[in-house]
Amino acid sequence: MKILVTGGAGFIGSAVIRLAVARGHEVVNLDALTYAGCLENLVSVANDPLYTFEHADIRDRPALDRIFTEHLPDAVMHLAAESHVDRSIDGPGDFIETNIIGTYNMLEAARSYWVAQGKPEAFRFHHVSTDEVYGSLGAEGIFTEDSPYDPRSPYSASKASSDHLVCAWHETYGLPVVLTNCSNNYGPFHFPEKLVPVVILNALAGKPIPVYGQGLNVRDWLYVEDHADALLLVLEKGASGRRYNIGGENEARNIDLVKTICSILDQKRPKKTPYADQITFVQDRAGHDLRYAIDPSRIRDELGWRPSVTLEEGLELTVQWYLNNEGWWRAMQNCDGVGQRLGTKG
Ligand code: NAD
Repeated sequence: MKILVTGGAGFIGSAVIRLAVARGHEVVNLDALTYAGCLENLVSVANDPLYTFEHADIRDRPALDRIFTEHLPDAVMHLAAESHVDRSIDGPGDFIETNIIGTYNMLEAARSYWVAQGKPEAFRFHHVSTDEVYGSLGAEGIFTEDSPYDPRSPYSASKASSDHLVCAWHETYGLPVVLTNCSNNYGPFHFPEKLVPVVILNALAGKPIPVYGQGLNVRDWLYVEDHADALLLVLEKGASGRRYNIGGENEARNIDLVKTICSILDQKRPKKTPYADQITFVQDRAGHDLRYAIDPSRIRDELGWRPSVTLEEGLELTVQWYLNNEGWWRAMQNCDGVGQRLGTKG
């Protein structure tokens, strides 16, 4: 397949591209290279004849039309987004523009290209979204594909809006779409403003390890390479118009996740005092959702997907990756937001 991937220089998009190229797909990476985009994530494929980069913004409709016409993709995987909840609290405008207007532009560019191609049934517009559109769970319950939407942050509201647009383009215009909603990802090349890399890097630097509130919020963690595998499977085998929830069935309270990372570091990079001594509770995020949990039975039963690692195995791989790739994260040390949690004032 020839796949147009948006946001391919980001954390998940780059994992998708590395895997897609390894599996013999041709990939065009469309990315605006915002603060979150990093072409270093793609050095392993940069010179591969299967890979092409297009520096473009999804808010720029003429650029999108040119890219579709020039590259003639068989499918789109749409990952480009503003993705950090804390940044959406500090400044929601970019989230509205990229996640909603940008997705609208992508849908219109894809639709006009698809119509010009004679409406091929095999074409796919794969929209990559989040479980945060379903809102927050209490101690019980789980998100299925039929859970009602109840987004609570500017980020999740913008993603929910984009999901609705994608469904509407399928119902109204017949555009062949698939949608996936996944839980929190972690793994190699994670931009160091999100919880897992912040914990690892602050621990290594001897700095306080910030944990929101009392660390009781529960997330359902998914190793990014397992997510990339699931996304390619949905693209290839998912039914048009169908939605799939993707999760690793790895629920953990933030405080337990942080302590696990600290104990992995205690083993891999021992020092006099345990890394957990650096844990510091900070003022909670405004409107912080308590718990997310994904029921992945549809993708498991219909498409045969299974995650390849447990949370403990994935965290070991991730910590080892950050220990082995100091050059990658050192280069980002001066970026806005690196090593700190944003939005703690909110
Ligand atoms: P990321 O922030 O690491 O990467 C986003 C990429 O999109 C960057 O390369 C950035 O340069 C690019 N981009 C941003 N605005 C753009 C624009 N206007 N035009 C073109 N490119 C633009 O994000 P991520 O964590 O890799 O997430 C990818 C997708 O997966 C997002 O749609 C996100 O909502 C979704 N998602 C992420 C998670 C997670 O845990 N990270 C969980 C569920 C869903």
